[in-house]
Amino acid sequence: MDPMVMLNLMVELAGLEEELTVARATIAHHGQRDKHLRSLQDEYVADAASAEAAGHGAEVELRRTEARIKDVEDTLARKRNQVGAVGDSRQLLALQAEIKNLEEELDRLETSGLALLDDVRIKDDDAGTARRQRDAQETRGSEEMEKMAGEMEMARAAEKEILQEIDRLTGLLPESERRHVKRLMSQVPPAVARVQSGACGGCFSQLPVQKALDAEQGKALVRCGSCARFVVRKAWN
Ligand SMILES: [Zn+2]
Repeated sequence: MDPMVMLNLMVELAGLEEELTVARATIAHHGQRDKHLRSLQDEYVADAASAEAAGHGAEVELRRTEARIKDVEDTLARKRNQVGAVGDSRQLLALQAEIKNLEEELDRLETSGLALLDDVRIKDDDAGTARRQRDAQETRGSEEMEKMAGEMEMARAAEKEILQEIDRLTGLLPESERRHVKRLMSQVPPAVARVQSGACGGCFSQLPVQKALDAEQGKALVRCGSCARFVVRKAWN
């Protein structure tokens, strides 16, 4: 094979491997981001549900206290009505003591009823905030996931095309180079690195001066003595 033809093939392969890296990075990034967004959404949904449950619990407690207040008030009214009808002074004292206890209980219940009312308001607010945050995250997340799904699909299509093109080009290489390129690609990609400030762009070892020049100027196909990758010039755009 003509050395210049082979060199140009290697330059093309370097470009394809770079594109492949970009496509795969997009796929990996979007996959992780999608997972993260989904678990974030699950968290917001769980937060909203538990805030809602807490609000509901507080309301149940408040209603229970209100019912208890009503009971005590009814009992108190009945006992007060009995006061005039009691003839016996010991019975009267007992009744008065009972009334006093009921009044004290009513006081306590009303105090805790007020605190519960505050609690219900706070928990309702919390639940409202949690619901809004959940819905906002759902909207934001869905938009981003939709956008990423589109980009992911494009990256997957690009990956497929790039791999086909890499296959096609490596198929044109002589047997030994093809084997070498394929082994590097599967084990320590890229198989073809760019020369970077006189160094191999694959392992960053400095190349001998003449090799670096050959690679930079596209005069000869160079292999890195350190990592065995092919080293070619930067893309000419
Ligand atoms: Zn190297």
